[in-house]
Amino acid sequence: MAKQLLAATRENRSFFASLRDQMRWDDKLLAWAMSNPGLRVQLFRFIDCLPALHSKPEVAAHLQEYLGDESVELPAALKGMLNFATPDSMPGQVAATTVSTAVETLAHKYISGENIKEVLKTIERLRKNKMAFTIDLLGEAVITEAEAQSYLDRYLDLMAQLVAASKKWTPVAAIDSAEGETLSQVQVSVKLTAFYSQFDPLDACGSEAKVSDRIRILLRRAQELGAAVHFDMEQYAYKDLTLSILKKILMEQEFRTRTDVGITIQAYLRDSERDTKDLIAWAKERGYPLTIRLVKGAYWDQETIKAAQKDWQQPVYNDKAATDANFETITQLLLENHEYVYAAIGSHNVRSQAVAIAIAETLNIPRRRFEMQVLYGMGDKLASALVARGHRVRVYCPYGELLPGMAYLIRRLLENTANSSFLRQSLEDRPVEELLAPPISKGDVPFAANHAAFANVADTDYADMELRNTAQTAFANVRQQLGKTYLPLINGEYQQTEQIIDSVNPSKYSEIVGKVGLISPEQAKAAMEAAKVAFPAWRRTPVKERADILRKAAVLMEQKRAELSAWIVLEVGKPVKEADAEVSEAIDFCNYYAQEMERLDKGYNYDIAGETNRYIYQPRGIAVVISPWNFPLAIAAGMTVAALATGNCTLLKPAETSSVIAAKFAEILVEAGIPKGVFQYVPGRGSTVGAYLVNHPDTHLIAFTGSQEVGCRIYADAAIVQPGQKHLKRVIAEMGGKNGLIIDESADLDAAVVGVVQSAFGYSGQKCSACSRVIVLEPIYDAFVQRLVEATHSLNIGLAESPSTQVGPVIDANARDRIKEYIEQGKKEAQAALEIPVTDTGYFVSPTIFSNVAPTAAIAQEEIFGPVVAVIKVKDFNEAIAVANGTNFALTGGLYSRTPSHIQQAEQEFEVGNLYINRTITGAIVARQPFGGFKMSGVGSKAGGPDYLLQFLEPRTITENIQRQGFAPIEGAE
Ligand code: NAP
Repeated sequence: MAKQLLAATRENRSFFASLRDQMRWDDKLLAWAMSNPGLRVQLFRFIDCLPALHSKPEVAAHLQEYLGDESVELPAALKGMLNFATPDSMPGQVAATTVSTAVETLAHKYISGENIKEVLKTIERLRKNKMAFTIDLLGEAVITEAEAQSYLDRYLDLMAQLVAASKKWTPVAAIDSAEGETLSQVQVSVKLTAFYSQFDPLDACGSEAKVSDRIRILLRRAQELGAAVHFDMEQYAYKDLTLSILKKILMEQEFRTRTDVGITIQAYLRDSERDTKDLIAWAKERGYPLTIRLVKGAYWDQETIKAAQKDWQQPVYNDKAATDANFETITQLLLENHEYVYAAIGSHNVRSQAVAIAIAETLNIPRRRFEMQVLYGMGDKLASALVARGHRVRVYCPYGELLPGMAYLIRRLLENTANSSFLRQSLEDRPVEELLAPPISKGDVPFAANHAAFANVADTDYADMELRNTAQTAFANVRQQLGKTYLPLINGEYQQTEQIIDSVNPSKYSEIVGKVGLISPEQAKAAMEAAKVAFPAWRRTPVKERADILRKAAVLMEQKRAELSAWIVLEVGKPVKEADAEVSEAIDFCNYYAQEMERLDKGYNYDIAGETNRYIYQPRGIAVVISPWNFPLAIAAGMTVAALATGNCTLLKPAETSSVIAAKFAEILVEAGIPKGVFQYVPGRGSTVGAYLVNHPDTHLIAFTGSQEVGCRIYADAAIVQPGQKHLKRVIAEMGGKNGLIIDESADLDAAVVGVVQSAFGYSGQKCSACSRVIVLEPIYDAFVQRLVEATHSLNIGLAESPSTQVGPVIDANARDRIKEYIEQGKKEAQAALEIPVTDTGYFVSPTIFSNVAPTAAIAQEEIFGPVVAVIKVKDFNEAIAVANGTNFALTGGLYSRTPSHIQQAEQEFEVGNLYINRTITGAIVARQPFGGFKMSGVGSKAGGPDYLLQFLEPRTITENIQRQGFAPIEGAE
């Protein structure tokens, strides 16, 4: 059967190699992409950016930039076309027109219409060919609630229009009925995540409630109209929640009897066989069959990359053959259970379809119970051949404008040109037997994209229900422990203090998280003495032993991950996911600095004949660590373990508002076996105890992270040699930022808006890396601001602990009042584009956006450290860079752009310690993005980077003349 189908798909096929010269440009582009991997990448990147380019010279310039790249081997025809002097020259414009037209033609191959008229024409043509359809509305990513509502409205409207049109359609028996049952002529395919802009598995209940409301409206209307609804499946992260929501709704009395709905299973997922079995069992219980569309899955690259970046297990099979084999297994499963589930076999692989037919014929399955599906434009000939064999065939028809359709187009192009794709292979001269051979997996090939020398720990994947439950239990446990007292740890003993302060929950300040004993200057003195006593033994302790204590601490933190996150959430008001990422960072610091110190401990040999030269490191002595509250665990732990790994005795003075978490960290170090006096936890007032420790003559090193004001003060104080002091102090000071993100006209707006929202309002803007200035080029300024405002308005503001929260409180009343003052100031300086009312049971401040801000305004120059963003309009990219560089800070910065020359210019000219391109500007990962700035943002080298530990060490050179009376041991001699 497969051979016959394959032969049918190959009839009259114009093989690209022989007919290349007569081919149209769209076919040529695809053919070239297949034969040149470098060109494939650059061409698809260019196509991705094309809809954002509004003039021919812009298109021409980008064409040259993308395809002129060294990695691209250009076919002669293309080389000739790209060889124009300037983008606005005649040949430049011709090139722009040729390629834009070709891409449009390509898009029209896969997109069934840009408007309803075109779609209806497509549908009528399909029906003439006895093919049914399902319509998918292409759209921009849904990032605002207005967009989510509009997605639903557009579907309601679409269904009504299609049904109205269907009244005039001539019935086609092959698709409109089966076994005496009338089938819906109209079917739409919808994506669950588009029904709620903040769809997030962490907030399973909230997402379910929002999405379910809209699904019910859709299903009711579909029933009134007689239209069928199919639910697509998207990224893996949404899969479990999607299935669970659909299972619940379709069990509701009102919808339980509906048999004209469908759910999708993706065979590339390792879970898919299990999910299918679950669905079958559920369908049995439901008592009314529904359709399961089986597909291979369209997000393979994305899933693979995401899992690799996150250090999560690969959810998809790495090996294409494994997916194909699984597809056949699930096909069998579905068809064997045809009484409970109707199968829709979606594939362009001739073998996969033939296997399904063979099973269906063997089992003698009634026609109603299975159909074949292909994507519009991807399997026309296969579809016709299947129709000719008498099968019901449905074509999945994406509909919508080209711009939002680009992501879809790229997925199709990737599939069409991927080496492993059946479509591509069938174009090549592969022997039929090979093409149709049973898929045999080569076994699990590990995905080898990460070459990092350091293994980061993985954040919690909250798409996993069990882990969500663990988080909930942790909150319950932590809540039981609220209000306890935490005392300073001096010389191995917890010491009573005269002064005890309350550390409160910023989300709800009536709740006391813990009571913290603050040390007096006398106790600080005692701690210093203890550190001095402990130092000689600690510096002699072998590095391996020191490193092992830190690694043990890392293991303990991993064990207590959920509790530590909960403490962070409750004490400093950080939303759950960000708190979890902070725990990962703290663990990484322990492991990374342990590994780094072992590397440095080897030292260097610069020996020559007759002389040895050893370059080694020794600890500095006593380190005072002064940490901020905004990364209460990660930064406190990072600076502390760096000091400890390098052999310094360390006193940790945390910020007052985050002393409970620091106490938890101290407990972990003790449990890991840190000797007494080597590490001491000394909570106290910054202005008294902090200053005392900084000024102490026995302090060798101060590792500080915090505000510019305090950092500069410490830098100055540390420079003064105190009576009795015999050394100069070393200061590492990581300070503030006024971080800018540039959005140019070629940027992907979906990504840019989401990136700015996360970078600016994540943890209420209280990250030193947070975005507080957005610098937008004029042509897209209005569109950007409008979407930014809408997207921000759609965020949930609430208790940090609540899984639905994206924006929690700020740290305390002082911070709240200071930020509010800035907001008032902003109102005088610029146009307030967004402010949202917030409650006052916690320290809440509305996410606030100012537009048309002058680059010199106070809100564009001073660090506000809250959820306030200044949007600045600029004329061109040079001005954007100048504005971005126009502050005293140089911490983080970012750029959203698809113009290679802009990316290059930013790399060279954007003056920041950490530059992020086409992604958020927060969330640096240890060893991957070593972190820290310059100018007034700090002094010292990057935390989590290869130079960091050097600051905690004194390098020494030891030279020995090993000659005696003119002879010396010669290496290698007997
Ligand atoms: P902060 O007010 O400067 O406090 C930082 C630490 O310094 C606290 O432990 C504080 O103790 C202590 N301190 C205050 N006055 C002192 C003094 N005179 N002598 C010695 N220590 C003193 O900063 P924050 O509000 O906690 O943190 C926010 C700031 O940190 C922002 O500017 C942010 O940009 C910056 N930050 C920078 C980075 C980076 O890597 N560059 C990372 C995170 C945060 P008390 O709490 O007892 O006052």
